[in-house]
Amino acid sequence: MRSSTQTFVIVGASLAGAKAAETLRAEGFDGRVVLLGDEARRPYERPPLSKEYLRGEKDFDAAAVHSADFYEEHDIELRTSTSVMAIEPADREVTLSSGERVGYDRLLLTTGAVPRRLGVDGAELDGVLYLRSVEDADRLRGVLSSQAQVVVIGAGWIGAEVAASARQLGAAVSMVELTGVPLERVLGAEVGAIYRDLHAAHGVDLHFGVGVEAITGTKSVESVRLSDGTVLPASAVVVGIGVAPRTEIAEAAGLAVDNGIVVDAHLQTSAPGIFAAGDVANAHHPRYRTRIRLEHWSAALNQGPAAARSMLDHDVVYDRTPYFFSDQYDLGMEYRGWAPVFDQVVFRGDPSTGTFLCFWLRENRVVAAMNVNVWDAGDTIDALLQAGRPIDPAVLADPDTDLADLAAPRT
Ligand code: NAP
Repeated sequence: MRSSTQTFVIVGASLAGAKAAETLRAEGFDGRVVLLGDEARRPYERPPLSKEYLRGEKDFDAAAVHSADFYEEHDIELRTSTSVMAIEPADREVTLSSGERVGYDRLLLTTGAVPRRLGVDGAELDGVLYLRSVEDADRLRGVLSSQAQVVVIGAGWIGAEVAASARQLGAAVSMVELTGVPLERVLGAEVGAIYRDLHAAHGVDLHFGVGVEAITGTKSVESVRLSDGTVLPASAVVVGIGVAPRTEIAEAAGLAVDNGIVVDAHLQTSAPGIFAAGDVANAHHPRYRTRIRLEHWSAALNQGPAAARSMLDHDVVYDRTPYFFSDQYDLGMEYRGWAPVFDQVVFRGDPSTGTFLCFWLRENRVVAAMNVNVWDAGDTIDALLQAGRPIDPAVLADPDTDLADLAAPRT
């Protein structure tokens, strides 16, 4: 017998949604939990899709958030292949594509994001691929062989990680990007250059500062024509030019939407009883005193549980330091912080060795940091970021300075 008569509905059977459902049960909620997702599979994590899963080193079960029987065991009504068409906040109901209506007492939106489509001639040809879902990864894996000639359009996280995996599988890879270096928007030109050199050293044919004019082929893709006239032969094209948050049903329901669904530090939307988490949520961050929409695994992993606790009326303030990681070839890194604006990059250790730390500074305060092939510095870096004190860049760069001392509270 349930003691609660309430129904909590989660739209988006993603990492964020699945972790929220898990948390509701872990916190003792014994009302109805309905987890709705439009994909056919149970919730899974996306980071392996451009790395181990793509290379055939991990299978679906290793990427899944929970075992197949978890949802039944925890009395979570997981409904896959189920799209939510509308939210009726006044009636506290969602409408499914079948026309069925499901009432809710609390609603969580973890609808994620969709890849931006490339709008050039030939973009609809067979062999022009995107990477978001397991099915996308399976399609891509099917064309990555040592005979393949892959053109990666966009040198963001998808482009950089897919290029590395494709090279590891023996494919010839070209990378095309409008900016000067990979990952420039987040890492800046100086650190992005490290990734440019890494891909060049692994034989990727780099085309930066150019756009794509057209993709050509009779039925399937044969080549990519760049704005500088270069023609790249291609048996497959992978487009990774960013994503757009899936806000349509929130917007239609009258929720505040501005680069994602706007939520406060409790992950509550502008509508009472409705919450949002993960890629789709543009959340007020108390420490940065701005809204942040973090399109990374860590936001799904941590905001899902936080939103669940908020749904249960716990006093939750989501103030975690933004975090993500990336593995490309033998360079593994973690990034912490938020640095849309910075005025200096400080290296600690020699980047050419592949083992180093670097820090993004603004007015001598560390606003973000990256540890590359260094795996014991995360907590200290987080403390340093939270302390937010001015630091002498030369002291920060000196490997003999104990980072923990710089992070420790002053007495
Ligand atoms: P992304 O990281 O936002 O990068 C998109 C890249 O494409 C940017 O460098 C962008 O340049 C460039 N671009 C935009 N329009 C272009 C065009 N017409 N031609 C060529 N380049 C163009 O997005 P993504 O790589 O597509 O990744 C999708 C999502 O998955 C992101 O949210 C990402 O964070 C996430 N993801 C994360 C990881 C990780 O955390 N390790 C791994 C894979 C994917 P501008 O910046 O100048 O627009």
